[in-house]
Amino acid sequence: MKHSDLLKIVKKFGDPVYVYDSEKIIFQFQRLTKAFSGVNKLKLNYACKALSNITILKLMNSLGSGLDTVSIQEVELGLLAGFKPESIIYTPNGVSLEEIEQAAKLGVRINIDNLSILEQFGSKHPNIPVCIRINPHVMAGGNSNISVGHIDSKFGISIHQIPHLLRIVELTKMNINGIHMHTGSDILDIDVFLYASEILFDTAKNFKNLDFIDFGSGFKVPYKDGDIETNIEELGKKLSTRFNEFCKEYGKELTLAFEPGKYLVSEAGSFLAKVNVVKQTTSTVFASIDSGFNHLIRPMLYGAYHQIENVSNPEGRERYYSVVGYICETDTFASNRRISEISEGDILCFKNAGAYCFTMASNYNSRFRPPEVLWHNGKAILIRERETFEDLIKNQVDVKNIFSQPTEKKKLTPQE
Ligand SMILES: *Cc1c(COP(=O)(O)O)cnc(C)c1O
Repeated sequence: MKHSDLLKIVKKFGDPVYVYDSEKIIFQFQRLTKAFSGVNKLKLNYACKALSNITILKLMNSLGSGLDTVSIQEVELGLLAGFKPESIIYTPNGVSLEEIEQAAKLGVRINIDNLSILEQFGSKHPNIPVCIRINPHVMAGGNSNISVGHIDSKFGISIHQIPHLLRIVELTKMNINGIHMHTGSDILDIDVFLYASEILFDTAKNFKNLDFIDFGSGFKVPYKDGDIETNIEELGKKLSTRFNEFCKEYGKELTLAFEPGKYLVSEAGSFLAKVNVVKQTTSTVFASIDSGFNHLIRPMLYGAYHQIENVSNPEGRERYYSVVGYICETDTFASNRRISEISEGDILCFKNAGAYCFTMASNYNSRFRPPEVLWHNGKAILIRERETFEDLIKNQVDVKNIFSQPTEKKKLTPQE
């Protein structure tokens, strides 16, 4: 998006504000689809938790995407956005049997990631097909917080427990329709990913009625210049070939599924915030913005890097700044970052603000969550309003008459 368009959006909707470029989302969806054109049946299920605005969900639906959901509320959002129940897959971790039953009742596909619930669900509902989430114990992530396939992970059913798993399936006579893994958030090494896929294929051979194999996600997108990104085209070619081979051995054409979140929406998003104060200390120049980790927590939560551009002065001389927020705790977006010269009132743009940014925003410090704007066909469309004071207190119960009012203290006069 052009700087002038971003500035116009701030002028119209105020700051801070999230902006999403639909063209980029569509481009990423098509690029991924094309990379896997070697398989006949491909299903991309957009991971709703990355960015769950209903207009974004409708865009995904219009592209032919399915939806990957991790809570019953996300399932309901998906249905509200117009996804057919069978286009939604519910892949929770550690939720109650009741919540899984609720999702099953809505007709969405169920993915179970532990033996205890699998046994309970299978005993009660042997006729409802279930996908199982396997943990292949492959460490594919770049950061221990986001690698979910390794041995100590809470995610999935360990491949070392396959015999136990098979016994449950046999005893309950339940129907396993899919095998799933989601190994981590960053696939950097395609060979590691293909290795994990082999484990999935081996597991799949144990089940006769599969419809699909779901390879999760973890496609890495660049967050800064020179960042490595997943080579989607190479992965697509290699995995498609291997998948087709497997289907031949298996004797049925299965669907190859993925659940990308970040890959589809990260780069489409920009977060715009105004600089309130430029403060020079002995060693650092701070640029304090009109926002904080209440709106964009990734840098504070897991040290994520977001490129920051001064859209008000893009051609200015570059200087070093620490960009900080207004939250009354350490609230640092970037330390000693080269940014073109900042003046108070300038608008900074945080890149890659589409995934896990707004959806992780909170009301900490009793601040309003920002609006969201979709940039579509050259137009800025408001898709979420800025919160108001009413939103902040909406669910608070103002209990009357439980505490007495503070008593007026006798005022002291200087003579006393
Ligand atoms: C979060 C999640 C995803 C999406 O991960 P990205 O890194 O955003 O692509 C996919 N599958 C499951 C089960 C998830 O929990």
